[in-house]
Amino acid sequence: MRVKFNKPRCHSPLFSSFSEQLESRRSDLDCSRCLFISKTMTTSTLGPHEAHVNSEHHGRAFPPSPLAATDLDVAIIGAGPYGLSAAAHLKAAGLKVGIFGRPMDFWASKMPAGMLLRSPRVASNIAAPLRNFSLDAYETTAGLPPRAPLPLETFVAYGHWFQRQLLPNLDAREVTSVQHLGPGFRLVLEDGEPIRCKRLVVAAGIGPFQRIPSIFTSLPASQVQHCYSGCDVKSLSKKRVVVIGAGQSALECAALLHEAGSDVEVIARISALRWIGQHPVLHNLGPISSLLYSPHDVGPAGISRLVAAPNLVMRIPLKLRDRIRIRAVRPAGSKWLPARLEKVQITTGRSVTSAHSEHGRVRLRLDDGTERSTDHVLLGTGYSVDISRYRFWSEQLLQQIATIDGYPALQTGFESSVSGLHFIGATAARCYGPLLYFVAGTEFASRELTSKIVKRGVRSLAKTLDVRPEFVDA
Ligand SMILES: Cc1cc2nc3c(=O)[nH]c(=O)nc-3n(C[C@H](O)[C@H](O)[C@H](O)COP(=O)(O)OP(=O)(O)OC[C@H]3O[C@@H](n4cnc5c(N)ncnc54)[C@H](O)[C@@H]3O)c2cc1C
Repeated sequence: MRVKFNKPRCHSPLFSSFSEQLESRRSDLDCSRCLFISKTMTTSTLGPHEAHVNSEHHGRAFPPSPLAATDLDVAIIGAGPYGLSAAAHLKAAGLKVGIFGRPMDFWASKMPAGMLLRSPRVASNIAAPLRNFSLDAYETTAGLPPRAPLPLETFVAYGHWFQRQLLPNLDAREVTSVQHLGPGFRLVLEDGEPIRCKRLVVAAGIGPFQRIPSIFTSLPASQVQHCYSGCDVKSLSKKRVVVIGAGQSALECAALLHEAGSDVEVIARISALRWIGQHPVLHNLGPISSLLYSPHDVGPAGISRLVAAPNLVMRIPLKLRDRIRIRAVRPAGSKWLPARLEKVQITTGRSVTSAHSEHGRVRLRLDDGTERSTDHVLLGTGYSVDISRYRFWSEQLLQQIATIDGYPALQTGFESSVSGLHFIGATAARCYGPLLYFVAGTEFASRELTSKIVKRGVRSLAKTLDVRPEFVDA
């Protein structure tokens, strides 16, 4: 396991284990004495003297704590399913919460129109702290028939409704910078307004993490795009499009393009495309099936059950945890896609070795020596989490966050090596497992995070929040 620290530490120079490294890193920033101060007196009550003790104790030049009683208890960056769910839970637990960003923006503007959700309906609920904010409840209120698979437009409208009902004070401005204040954080919004908070939750999604193989980086932006950058299917109709990849995004985009009249070819490295639910027998064994698969349906038989218990997954050694994660989300398409792709040319077992722009077209060479000429290339090549690609960090704060290959190293309550800084969603999947890549993980993430921040057990929290405690330990 490689845990990256970007700065030399001031306490022990020797680390023997990951947890020690994390603890040491945290103690560097948040040593027991300062923890005592912040646990026994709220950060907002820290006077200049205590703040001075804190800064002196670390030998750092932190200014006296500028946090005030009027500051936010928690600020959340990102108003996708994870940010919305976490904000609703923290608010219901009595905290002063600010959530920033345009609600459901990634889903509304980066996913192709006409897309259907890959996750089953039961796994497409944005976890709420109160009953009656489920997908079913939204459809009933909106007079929509329940549909499976769920259309993108319904899911986006559900997210907007959830936000209006539970978080009417959401602030749609983007966060452009984040600084660590010692205790607490200072954010700056897109129009320059500063915000201070005691804790910060990063729920900023995967937007900046698109994986673009180097052979495609020299193509003009008009000829190549990533599936996660808002593929406009209509603008590509009547054009020849090569789609690279074998995952849900690639295959669904290929189907939508074909249906819009594009001449599509899919090129995939794997020898044969895979489809989710390839073993219908295992899904239809009644109670035995529920032992093999959780309702979230992330991963194959058995692994699906394990993945549904992120607290357990977190205790598995990283190497094995990585294998489970990669197996659970290996590239595959939904079971409704094969019929829609029947007339699409599919080339498997091949990879593209070079790509050049020539006379307004793209010339691709494959590893079997064949060539393709196309108008456009659509990359369904996935993403690589690398939190340094979020553009809002101050250099100083970024250096303080311990990472494992680009993912933040997290402890219980989704807390990073920087005290009070939490990550939820895909960035937490390396520690908590692949459930955190999906909307289904909002239930666990919001409970765990809230429980950590309000320092109460998840079960007692469940009573306050009017939720079913049986989900708390899932
Ligand atoms: C094509 C595709 C299909 C998918 N299908 C499914 C599916 O069927 N089911 C499923 O469960 N998952 C699916 N996923 C995964 C999906 O992305 C996640 O489940 C979900 O979006 C996670 O929610 P989130 O809140 O973590 O991230 P997001 O939904 O990405 O939300 C993060 C938000 O933060 C905002 N943000 C980023 N930076 C800032 C900033 N500085 N200031 C303010 N706001 C900021 C972004 O604009 C974004 O709106 C799919 C993903 C893709 C790409």
